[in-house]
Amino acid sequence: MIRIDRVGKVVQSGSEKLTILRDIDLEVQKGEFLSIIGPSGSGKSTLLGLIAGLDAPSSGRVYVDDIELASLGEDELARIRGERIGFVFQFFHLLPSLTAAENVMVPMEIFGVADADEKSRALLAEVGLTDRSHHYPSQLSGGEQQRVAIARALANDPPILLADEPTGNLDQNNGKHIVDLILAIHERRGSTIVLATHDEALARRADRTLILDGGAIERIEPRRDAELRSVASGN
Ligand code: ADP
Ligand code: MG
Repeated sequence: MIRIDRVGKVVQSGSEKLTILRDIDLEVQKGEFLSIIGPSGSGKSTLLGLIAGLDAPSSGRVYVDDIELASLGEDELARIRGERIGFVFQFFHLLPSLTAAENVMVPMEIFGVADADEKSRALLAEVGLTDRSHHYPSQLSGGEQQRVAIARALANDPPILLADEPTGNLDQNNGKHIVDLILAIHERRGSTIVLATHDEALARRADRTLILDGGAIERIEPRRDAELRSVASGN
């Protein structure tokens, strides 16, 4: 589903070359939930941006469904992104002049979805916001805004959901509800999820946790109860 092959990212910072990611090798299976943790500046957002095709690697290759993103033209890349990838940001990025329902419809309009209205309502129900569809972002709490952003990310039923610190701007309680929602989506839709966070407890609820340090993979660990299960079953 997602394959990252010897990826590096180097940027020019003034007169210096700055290595943001080095030697990243990673496969995320269809339906897997992978979390990425690491201190601020360790390269989490950069890695998610490469998977989303928002940014190109300096070396190595990124594949989504065996398609190498760098081989695509701009239009093709936009289409693959729109169809296959939903993205959730720390700061929601809702359009302030649109209602919740209208925000969710934005990605559908790009693909000319016929019953966008109805679909938007169903998605808002899926994230627990049935009665908020006519509210503007300014009339919603942070947790509610993030729910709208998640509904928008699901607009075209993408098989892949990427989330960059989706609870980073929420208090602990709202953050937990958002994680519960992402886990429910994972369960219900079988989505492939990659989620960056610096909240270790949150990260440990994923199937596997990738620990980034200074732009390199320090290690990848399975969820502990998964480990116990495999010990118990003798695998
Ligand atoms: P994280 O999301 O883990 O906090 P980032 O991926 O945002 O880390 O950034 C990793 C490092 O790369 C940081 O030190 C950041 O300042 C730097 N960085 C990211 N993008 C650029 C860029 N375009 N130019 C220069 N430095 C960058
Ligand atoms: Mg970041």
